[in-house]
Parts: sequence; C-alpha cells; structure tokens
Amino acid sequence: MFFIFGLFLGSFLNNIALRLERNEDYLFSRSKCPNCGKVLTWKELIPLLSFLIQKGRCKNCSTKISLRYPLVEIFTGLWVYLLAKTILPSGSALVCTKSVLVCVLPLIEFLFYLIFLSVLFVLALYDLKTFLVDDRLILFGIIVGFLFWGFKIYFQITPRDFSYLFNYLFFQFGKFEPIFSALFLSSIFLLIYLVTQGKGLGFGDVKTAFLMGLFLRLGDGILSIVFASLLGSIYGIYLILKNKKFHQPIPFVPFFFLGTLMTIFFGQTISKFYFSFFEF
Ligand SMILES: [Zn+2]
Repeated sequence: MFFIFGLFLGSFLNNIALRLERNEDYLFSRSKCPNCGKVLTWKELIPLLSFLIQKGRCKNCSTKISLRYPLVEIFTGLWVYLLAKTILPSGSALVCTKSVLVCVLPLIEFLFYLIFLSVLFVLALYDLKTFLVDDRLILFGIIVGFLFWGFKIYFQITPRDFSYLFNYLFFQFGKFEPIFSALFLSSIFLLIYLVTQGKGLGFGDVKTAFLMGLFLRLGDGILSIVFASLLGSIYGIYLILKNKKFHQPIPFVPFFFLGTLMTIFFGQTISKFYFSFFEF
C-alpha cells in the first residue's frame, strides 16, 4: 500500500521538480507532453502503469517518454515503503486498541518525515539539473521543521534516534536540540563555503544542512553527512576519471538525500555493527 502511494507521490514530486526546472507554475499547471504540448488525460497520468501501457511513448506524437518518470516513481515507492516500515509500529498502524493517540501520533510523525524527505528529494532532483537550490522549497521545509519541533514538544515525543550515535557521542540538549543540530550541521558547510570562497560548495548546501538538522538528531545528521561525503567523493573520482578534468561542480543535495535515507533506514544496523568491535 505504501509502495503504491509512493508511486503517486513520486509522480507528483517529479512534476514539481520538472516545473521548477522549466520555470512554470509548479503547483497549478496541467501536465503536458514536453514534445507536442498535448495536455495529458488522467489515463496518461497513472504512475508507472501509463508508461508501461503506452510502451514508453506519447499517445499523440509517439515521442519516447524519458525513463526519468518511471525511475523516480519506483524509487519514491521504495523509500516511502521503507520509511513507513521504519517509523510506523509493526502490524497495522490503523488498528488502534489502546487509545486514538497511540496510533495517530506515529502517523503524524510519519507524515512529518514524509514531507521532510519529499522536500529534500525535489531539492535533489532540481540540484541535479540546475546546480541550484530553490529557496521557496527550503523555506517551506524549514517552516514544517519548526512545526515538527512544536509537535514533539507539545506531545512530549522522544526524538527518534536512527543510529544510536547521539546516545553514544552527545549529551542531551533538551528542547532546543533541533535548533542546535541545525546550526551545527549548517556551520560545517558554512565553514567549507567560507574557506573555499564558494568554490568547494554552494551556499545552497549550507541551507540544506540547516533543514536536515531541524529533522535529524545531531548524531544522525552527522552520519548522513558522512555517508553523503563518501558517496559524493566516489562520484567525484568517477567524474575526474571519465572527463580527465579536475574542479568540476558536483551537485551535492542528491548526496545529502541519499545519505539521509541510508541513516534513517540502515543507521541502527550500521552503528550496531561498528560499535560491536569495541565491546569486550
Ligand atoms: Zn507528445
């Protein structure tokens, strides 16, 4: 169920990213074929299925539809499914035996993380194409981040620790933890930005790191950045080998996104494995 929901969400997020890239009204314009301009009907807008039925071609002008559509949809289906598996209690989240709050709160928490990852994903897709970060999306994400902070304080929800690194390495910061985490993570990138005079990274990466800190505990945020840097370095080396040219711009938000996914889904497994070497 969550996978299928993710296919639809992926289609929606992909469209937002595409419209941002083309500078169109990104919420209220109709989807059309980029080649012939024909406005698509609902039958042509079913994620994955329409692509398969039409054998990857536009019904009107039979131009090939970019593989980006089905790939983004399947990928979103996967991460939405994994997010639901990580956040929601096992069994059916909709069956409530004790009190309504017991099952509604995790569902709201799931929605907050879903919005966070959706914003990060659209930022990543947009960065891939344009090497830019969209400020409206960052602002939207930050507002949701503050709402999430308020929600956790009001309902006294313990912040989620996806990797246990927080418990191992840091003391408690109390209620102001999200702000501390956001400032700490973004200051790492602000420092790189200032030292390299904007050549190493863009200022958009500083803003994105701030957004991540609002949603992730400090340990998880740092782990996400470590994963992102590892993946980014591998990609950087690949680019150097392929083009035989140093100093190429690398869009970093896609790696932020992948690093965050790795932390949320596999952080506990990885850190348990890592710390098992230090236990006697
Ligand atoms: Zn067409």
